[in-house]
Amino acid sequence: MTGLATKALRPSVVAPLIRGTRGHAVAVDPPYLPPNPSQQSSTATQSRPRYVDGDVRHDWRRSEIQKIFDAPLMESIYRAATVHRMHQDASRIQLCTLMNIKTGGCTEDCKYCSQSSSYKTPTKASRLIDIEPVLKAAREAKANGSTRFCMGAAWRDLAGKKSGFEKILKMVSEVRGMGMEVCTTLGMLSPEQAIRLKKAGLSAYNHNLDTSREFYPEVITSRTYDERLATIEAVRDAGISVCSGGILGLGEQDEDRVGLIHEISRLPQHPESFPVNTLVPIEGTPLEKNDPVGVHTVLRTIATARIVMPKTIIRLAAGRHTFSETEQAMAFMAGANAIFTGERMLTTPCSGWDEDKAMLGRWGLRGQRSFEDHESVSTPMMTKEQQALHGVSY
Ligand code: SF4
Repeated sequence: MTGLATKALRPSVVAPLIRGTRGHAVAVDPPYLPPNPSQQSSTATQSRPRYVDGDVRHDWRRSEIQKIFDAPLMESIYRAATVHRMHQDASRIQLCTLMNIKTGGCTEDCKYCSQSSSYKTPTKASRLIDIEPVLKAAREAKANGSTRFCMGAAWRDLAGKKSGFEKILKMVSEVRGMGMEVCTTLGMLSPEQAIRLKKAGLSAYNHNLDTSREFYPEVITSRTYDERLATIEAVRDAGISVCSGGILGLGEQDEDRVGLIHEISRLPQHPESFPVNTLVPIEGTPLEKNDPVGVHTVLRTIATARIVMPKTIIRLAAGRHTFSETEQAMAFMAGANAIFTGERMLTTPCSGWDEDKAMLGRWGLRGQRSFEDHESVSTPMMTKEQQALHGVSY
């Protein structure tokens, strides 16, 4: 919250802080204050709107989201599956492929990341790669059914990278020209850089908030939560779709998972995409010994995000390969509707296209078209031969 916004509120309305179960401060909703008669113009302006499931809201209270998160899991999944069907075709799963275009040597200190130069990890730093290998990878991804191609560069921002940025703009326009949605994740962006990416044809920009505002400083100290929000604002203002989500397994508690969803749900527009990553502990990072996050926590987070943001695409991202097919199917039931697929996902393993297409076929799910490519609607994700091989039929 900015100083200006804080001043406009009565002090007692500012969210107080309590101690979370792990000891860090957690924001809670302010207590209900009866309307002040001197400021009340009419009953209508004071009463809180009544909502039903499926409404797209930007005024979620943290306590409401916590209640959804804490509900019996089967009930939450059923509710989320119902909300999912109100706004989206639940039989469609978007396949996207992520390519690292510049690896390692990043000056940020994200404690989970093998690409940070703050830690000694097996990831070797490399320069920004050439355009042609990227286009080759995008063509291959498209031929395999991916409709979104994402490019990630490990750096803090684009400062001092003039020629590199020009190269990336070229990559963006070429991939968009193939009829794919194109996404990048390049660290912090200025409004001008966001506009240039939009003009080059960028469909979406990924910039995760990672976790709750309270827990964030325990994971990253080299850039602030508000700097992340400023990049998200620049992206949205440029007319680019926002992809912003989090990572589970950083050592956070349920209230942080709720805090992340709450923060994102209150953006002026819900992000078009909400990635749910689970930590893949990397040797040499401060989080290398973290316990894996349980599938029930992942399902709870997905179901809650689906109920709170009914129109958003919820993307099963890093760590998906650690879950069984049945667990992934439960995640689709809970409202997840996109996966990263291909050879690798940045520096972590990823399930391959054939494996994923066969899995989706077994559960009666199909690929989602891109905004651009109407061909992909009618194109089965597997050839007749592949369907026979995997015992699947469309
Ligand atoms: S900004 Fe990205 S690449 Fe850099 S350390 Fe953080 S997660 Fe890793």
